[in-house]
Amino acid sequence: MSDKYDVIVIGAGPGGYVAAIKAAQLGLKTACIESWTDKEGKNRLGGTCLNVGCIPSKALLEISHKYEEANHGFADQGIMAKDVKMDIGKMMERKEGIVNQLTGGIGGLFKANGVTPIWGHGKLLANRNVEVTDQDGKTKTYEAENVIIATGSKPIQIPPAPFDGEHIVDSEGALEFTEVPKRLGVIGAGVIGLELGSVWARLGAEVTVIEALDTFLPAVDQQLAKDALKQFQKQGLNIVMGARMTGAEVKRKLVNVSYEDSKGKQEAKFDKLIVAVGRRPYTDNLLSEDAGVQMDERGFIFVDDNCKTEAPGVWAVGDVVRGPMLAHKASEEGVMVAERIAGHKPQVNYDCIPNVIYTFPEIAWVGKTEEEVKAEGEEYNVGTFPFAANGRAMAANSASGMVKIIADAKTDRIVGFHVVGPQASEIVAQGVIAMEFGSSAEDLALTCFAHPTLSESVHEAALGVAGGAIHIANRRKKK
Ligand code: FAD
Ligand code: AMP
Repeated sequence: MSDKYDVIVIGAGPGGYVAAIKAAQLGLKTACIESWTDKEGKNRLGGTCLNVGCIPSKALLEISHKYEEANHGFADQGIMAKDVKMDIGKMMERKEGIVNQLTGGIGGLFKANGVTPIWGHGKLLANRNVEVTDQDGKTKTYEAENVIIATGSKPIQIPPAPFDGEHIVDSEGALEFTEVPKRLGVIGAGVIGLELGSVWARLGAEVTVIEALDTFLPAVDQQLAKDALKQFQKQGLNIVMGARMTGAEVKRKLVNVSYEDSKGKQEAKFDKLIVAVGRRPYTDNLLSEDAGVQMDERGFIFVDDNCKTEAPGVWAVGDVVRGPMLAHKASEEGVMVAERIAGHKPQVNYDCIPNVIYTFPEIAWVGKTEEEVKAEGEEYNVGTFPFAANGRAMAANSASGMVKIIADAKTDRIVGFHVVGPQASEIVAQGVIAMEFGSSAEDLALTCFAHPTLSESVHEAALGVAGGAIHIANRRKKK
């Protein structure tokens, strides 16, 4: 038996569920297939992001930051908090509550917009037929005018450190520790390793991050990356650069990790080890041989700039295709594809996708780093402003970091916007809007910002691009 839809979406993460809602809003008969189940076997929408990614990690980051502040940041402000204790169980309950509320909310949105959820594992066959196998192993085939693949990604497991779910865990396991490990090892100083390492360090773990590269956060503007690294080290994170993990063995409840750095072979012992060395596109049992969809050499589904695959009427969005693995990038692509199916011609502006690392300080940016602009050989101007000179940041007891704006020297157009510091994740939106509208640094400099706000640092950095900052000595250099 075959049920026919205008659009079938496979995967209900931020790429898939957003695509499905948008398609339904545009009048298309839409279904969304999802295989995720929770520990009790109940179906869950929301994908990695809502269940084991962005949302639970930010819940733990917020809570652990408050705990850290209460322990170490309050006394300077005259608040004498005594015997501040952490109830890990309660923290996890709160995290789960937020996840349940949000994943349930997607179900409500599906209902309100007329999206049909189909529970089970979807497999694309030829001619846009999709076979769904439910939890009991029963199969049913659905037919669609268009199929959107949004199956996301999974943590990469490397042979020297296979996950055992107890001592050697992936990011999902690291969101579920029932107690604070005394010594925690983290392999990989990427976004996920730093965020999860920060959570447990704030709660009292002795954290060592082992990173193979010599450069800390190579995708981040290096002026900001260096600033952030100093602050992480001050917080007690032991970040070992140029160190490649070669083995991990569990013995007497301890993980013995071997790694190699410039001094040779090293060993370390941890109570828990988080392996956060990246994620791989998830396409397990997704495509029949005659589905007509091609993959690239790294296993991502091959798509063009508009997320079209090689198979007519088949699209793919989010982590399963090229580009940064970010929830908002997935959603942007989902909306674009739904609109293209409905006959519109929008495009994703890949130059204006913000990146955020939710450590403390947060690191956020959009556009090019100074290293990238320099490598292109174009002339540019830079304006920076430190939060140490921002009254609101001082009042908030978080006066570290800076805003940095890079503008093309000929046109003054902003090409890079970087923030390390308090609420960088919120402040970066100003750079995204400015760049989306093709603003010059002068446009921002001529804009009135409320006082006292953290955003005044954006204003001052924009003024500084032309050497006109008011609240700091200008050190304008023509590069
Ligand atoms: P996913 O969210 O992975 O969803 C894919 C869905 O497809 C899943 O529900 C899966 O069950 C389902 N599926 C897969 N195959 C099938 C099949 N054959 N049939 C049926 N269903 C299937 N990004 C940010 O932007 N900000 C953050 O702060 C952030 N923090 C993160 C923190 C952590 C710890 C992790 C792990 C990730 C984080 N990310 C963050 C990344 C973000 O979660 C992903 O980029 C995002 O979830 C990708 O969305 P997606 O829709 O492509 O895939
Ligand atoms: P990301 O891709 O942002 O998730 O970051 C993953 C990080 O893990 C990268 O910076 C890699 O260099 C690092 N990495 C990968 N394999 C190893 C390894 N065997 N030992 C140490 N670091 C690693």
